[in-house]
Amino acid sequence: MRFHILTLFPEMVMQGLMTSITGRAVQQNKIGIEAVNIRDYSKDKHNRVDDYPYGGGAGMLMQVQPVYDACSHVLERIPEQAKRRVIYVTPQGTPFTQARAKEFAEQDDLLLLCGHYEGIDERVLEEVVTDYISIGDYVLTGGELAAMVIVDAVARLVPGVLGNEESALTESFHGDLLEHPQYSRPEVWHGKPVPKVLLSGNQRQIDTWKREQSVIRTRERRPDLYERYQELQECREMLIKKKLLHIDMIELINRGRALLIYRGQGQILLKDMEYEIYFHACVDTSLLPDAGNWELPVKEIPLVVIHQKEMIPYFTKKYGLETECECYQAVCTRHEKLPVRGLYRPDLTREDGLYLRRLALTDLAQVFEIYEGCCDEEYLSSRIEKGMLVGAFYGDTLAGFIGQHCEGSIGMLMVAEGFRRNHVAAALQTYMTNLMLEQGKIPFSQVVTDNKESLGLQQKLGFYLSRDTIFWMEAEKQRI
Ligand code: SAM
Repeated sequence: MRFHILTLFPEMVMQGLMTSITGRAVQQNKIGIEAVNIRDYSKDKHNRVDDYPYGGGAGMLMQVQPVYDACSHVLERIPEQAKRRVIYVTPQGTPFTQARAKEFAEQDDLLLLCGHYEGIDERVLEEVVTDYISIGDYVLTGGELAAMVIVDAVARLVPGVLGNEESALTESFHGDLLEHPQYSRPEVWHGKPVPKVLLSGNQRQIDTWKREQSVIRTRERRPDLYERYQELQECREMLIKKKLLHIDMIELINRGRALLIYRGQGQILLKDMEYEIYFHACVDTSLLPDAGNWELPVKEIPLVVIHQKEMIPYFTKKYGLETECECYQAVCTRHEKLPVRGLYRPDLTREDGLYLRRLALTDLAQVFEIYEGCCDEEYLSSRIEKGMLVGAFYGDTLAGFIGQHCEGSIGMLMVAEGFRRNHVAAALQTYMTNLMLEQGKIPFSQVVTDNKESLGLQQKLGFYLSRDTIFWMEAEKQRI
């Protein structure tokens, strides 16, 4: 990922960002950061970049020409297929949040345009800017600090940037809750002991304590976030009445990734904070006959998972979506890890050489060779890049792989032809299930209704199948 900061003070941003973690990430080629001096593009003989605003008013304004030329020059250098955004940092923008940081971290190139004086001539902004972002309700003298805040928050989400980072496979939960209080040595300081539970060694009790403290802290310090959290908990209560069918929505809430878009008329519409995926459920099915008259407060829905067949005509008519696939939810409802049998031992290579490891982009060719499912190559490589695919190998040969889909289900399970009937699939599914259980997640897969083999495997491993099915619907074939 490359950051291009357009500024009148390049030394200021580079000095800040070349220090500590972001600086190390640049040196290790995990990210690129360049500061482009807008003044270098001035055509004025005194290198001026500002002028008086028409209509009067305090201060000066940055002019269109140098800003436009600086931007165009950077954009020309970016490969055509690269995903890019041009962000103008401004107190008039939408608030910068962790969700926006995640969205930006998906891009290949981020241009950050820093204003100065009273800002920038509106006409050039209209031509180049894709996002207006504010870092808070106060006014800074220039956009440099705002751009640095954004680079820092986005860069730490790029795989490999945080030295001690846990892999994306073990990502912690985000969402509306603030973090619990934390303690380090000494055990007692100024007469204040560290909470006993943290010294207990009982991980389940520790996790429960952390969760409770997060809720208490959020209620006390951020009532606005707490209100959102509570609303989602109420939705969760309704969804859990059909736990197997709604497991994807329940887990979206549990994992702190759910945005509540609409709740009413017996329906719940959630959106994934990280991806453009919507989830719809009718929690009061007695209202379904009235579905034709419902209005959801969203203009466009590119991709939705619906949980009642009766809603298909609604989403087809209102949003032009087609049904892509019908799946059962397969849910592992137990808390204890699956017993390890057959080929798989957690840390050992089996005597005959099978071992599991996270896949890297260098494995792509082998992955494509054996994959026959419905995800496209771009999606598979992006999941590998995020560390979300695990392969089973004999020597250097990939025998099969499994992954976590972006919406959180286990999937993409594939075993190469020569290795089928060899328990490789069970080994992979067991590995992924146990990994998710360790993280406190509820493991679930979505299995296409006619995939008898996978349905059999899920049941054999103790997953429960939903009685009803869910439907993925999308605008055009762009399966995630
Ligand atoms: N006249 C502008 C207004 O009222 O919107 C404020 C201009 S401010 C003095 C100069 C520059 O600092 C802005 O163009 C913007 O790039 C940056 N800036 C100031 N406050 C900011 C904030 N809260 N978030 C992001 N950028 C900010």
